[in-house]
Amino acid sequence: CGIVGYIGPQPVVPVIIEGLRRLEYRGYDSAGIAVAGNSSGLELRRAPGKLRNLEAVIADSPIHGTFGIGHTRWATHGRPTEENAHPHRDCTKTLVVVHNGIVENYLALKKQLTAAGHTFVTETDTEIIAHLIEEEIKQAPGIVLEEAVRRTVHRLTGAFAIGVLSANEPNKLVAARMGPPAVIGIGDGEFFLASDVPGILHHTRNIHFLQDGELAVLTTSGVTLTDFEAKPLPLKVQRITWDP
Ligand code: GLU
Repeated sequence: CGIVGYIGPQPVVPVIIEGLRRLEYRGYDSAGIAVAGNSSGLELRRAPGKLRNLEAVIADSPIHGTFGIGHTRWATHGRPTEENAHPHRDCTKTLVVVHNGIVENYLALKKQLTAAGHTFVTETDTEIIAHLIEEEIKQAPGIVLEEAVRRTVHRLTGAFAIGVLSANEPNKLVAARMGPPAVIGIGDGEFFLASDVPGILHHTRNIHFLQDGELAVLTTSGVTLTDFEAKPLPLKVQRITWDP
């Protein structure tokens, strides 16, 4: 339901929690965050219920980093439990995915992936996206994350706005859209992903509205945009002058 991603010099947890809070009006039943950019690889915290439950989990067991993604979930497939809260991981626990929307063909994909040896720990449609990306990397070792995501989105039917992080390619956040809204925020040496403008507007007013069929790669040095066939596209940055 709500997505906030960040890459830049600031401690990531407050940026994401505050952004998710500003998207709370959309409603949600659970929340989670994954951070990287530290020595312990990708770290995950999740909680059912309100954002304050997630904050309590983080207060008990702090996480730090300078890039990450967070999500507030409005469950469509699987109960609103901690386990089913995003971000979701692959078998190797090196990738995380947050997702808005519904993967319509997830049962067929789950069957194929199970036959290929994947095991699933949630009841969600989203978890299969992480496993598909893992599988693409397995099939083509050395492939960059955005290429694995590009190949994966071709296998999905339904609606998605996704954010993806990999512990193997730190300093990179990949986003793709087909259906649910997603925006990219261009700051000064920092870059944002959100499901909607109010989640990041207090950090930057320079926004690219991700279009259906677009895939964005955010790094500390900038944002590159392509279509799902890897054709480069120009960023169309708009200056937002209104306040939420
Ligand atoms: N279909 C996904 C789930 O149930 C995403 C829901 C959402 O958009 O928050 O976990």
